[in-house]
Amino acid sequence: MKSVAEGLVLVSYGSHGIVQLEDGSRLPVKYRRQVGRPFCGDHVRVSLSDDNSGVVEVIRKRRNHFLRADQQQREHIVAANLDQVLIVIARRPLPSRDLVERYLLAVHSLGIEPVIVLNKVDLEISEPGAAGEQVLSHLEDYRALGYRLIETSCKTEPGIQGLAQILTNKTSILAGQSGVGKSSLVRQLLPDLDIQVGELSRVTGKGTHTTTTTILYSLAGGGYLMDSPGVWEYGLWKLENSAISAGFIEFGQYAQTCRFNDCRHDSEPGCGVKAALKDGKILAWRYRSYQRLLEQNDQTI
Ligand code: GDP
Ligand code: ZN
Repeated sequence: MKSVAEGLVLVSYGSHGIVQLEDGSRLPVKYRRQVGRPFCGDHVRVSLSDDNSGVVEVIRKRRNHFLRADQQQREHIVAANLDQVLIVIARRPLPSRDLVERYLLAVHSLGIEPVIVLNKVDLEISEPGAAGEQVLSHLEDYRALGYRLIETSCKTEPGIQGLAQILTNKTSILAGQSGVGKSSLVRQLLPDLDIQVGELSRVTGKGTHTTTTTILYSLAGGGYLMDSPGVWEYGLWKLENSAISAGFIEFGQYAQTCRFNDCRHDSEPGCGVKAALKDGKILAWRYRSYQRLLEQNDQTI
């Protein structure tokens, strides 16, 4: 009888991938048409062959999945079973207006915990007065709303310790615009990155294309860090209007008192969100970004 084992998908290509078994060993696996293709981070049952390879027999139920968008704003799954998305922004390049909001909405709609990472805190803001500077001036507000915010520098103090700590025993992925320092953070969080990549190449007998493939790396202190090159650098998939209002988490309790169930919190009478705004219970800048995002969404239909 063939033996079977449970494993974790570290990397997944079209019809094959690499799985880590519970004892830590890694082996190349193939997929079956009837079972389908697992993604990086999926838990799978593998039947083992004598030549130290395997076949994925069952893909275990996913807790969640992580998406990227292509140029047509279509969704593609790139990973599964994440605890956190690290939304990386920087003092340089400054984030564009509404960027953090959009990322937070997207993470919320996927049912994953967001963490805002402000990198390059060693630098001064290069364009005082720019819209992106306003974004940075709102960061403490995010904290007050209940979001986690970590400051890092890959060059000097405060380093990456604060970030490393919250990754322990979790599965996290980095997302953000090009140039904010994602690769630098990965290299610092994974001092043995080259060894891990070399190990993956050894398992398949081929090179590992770290610039195009989503890979699950092991963190020395426990937990996993996923690197998915280019993810969210150029934009997101189109969000529903309902995902926009749901993602403004502080609106929730007030929206329950809106007269209309489908209230857009715009010009409807008896709107609980507008009332809370007037009473200063909702931040004016948050409400304005909500309006802008709804407007932009309406225009792209
Ligand atoms: P990515 O495109 O998000 O992967 O960004 P990179 O990691 O390639 O970093 C872009 C540039 O920013 C590189 O020149 C890095 O050396 C620099 N960089 C990254 N992190 C920091 C930081 O914390 N402080 C400073 N001053 N520069 C940084
Ligand atoms: Zn309303």
